[in-house]
Amino acid sequence: MAGEPQPDCLFCKIVAGEIPATVVRKTDRTLAFRDIAPKAPVHVLVVPHAHYPNAASLAEAEPDVAGELLAEAGRVAADEGVEDYRLIFNTGAGAGQTVFHAHVHVLGGTSMTERMV
Ligand code: IMP
Repeated sequence: MAGEPQPDCLFCKIVAGEIPATVVRKTDRTLAFRDIAPKAPVHVLVVPHAHYPNAASLAEAEPDVAGELLAEAGRVAADEGVEDYRLIFNTGAGAGQTVFHAHVHVLGGTSMTERMV
């Protein structure tokens, strides 16, 4: 069923607490944790508890949770003390997506103006 946990999904396992992560925020429907290979001083991933393969499919199925994901991304940035930050949704392997559970990258803490991603 759509949104159900997937046995081989890394982020489903992090949401379930089966794989450790450095959690920075948690709601009933979202989880924010530090990226294991940070590309900027602040690099946090915000994911829905529910499993959808990418952000657009989450937004189609559960638009309120997609909105909460964005609001939580903003709260992460505020908590981390960054006013200027970048949100990234890689979608598809060709775009660099490696984990097929919807997530938004929150990147900040350095100038992002010279970067593509
Ligand atoms: P994607 O490339 O947009 O799919 O982003 C997946 C992100 O997950 C990458 O930036 C990885 O560094 C990150 N990642 C992979 N495994 C873990 C983990 O166990 N904990 C936290 N982040 C992870």
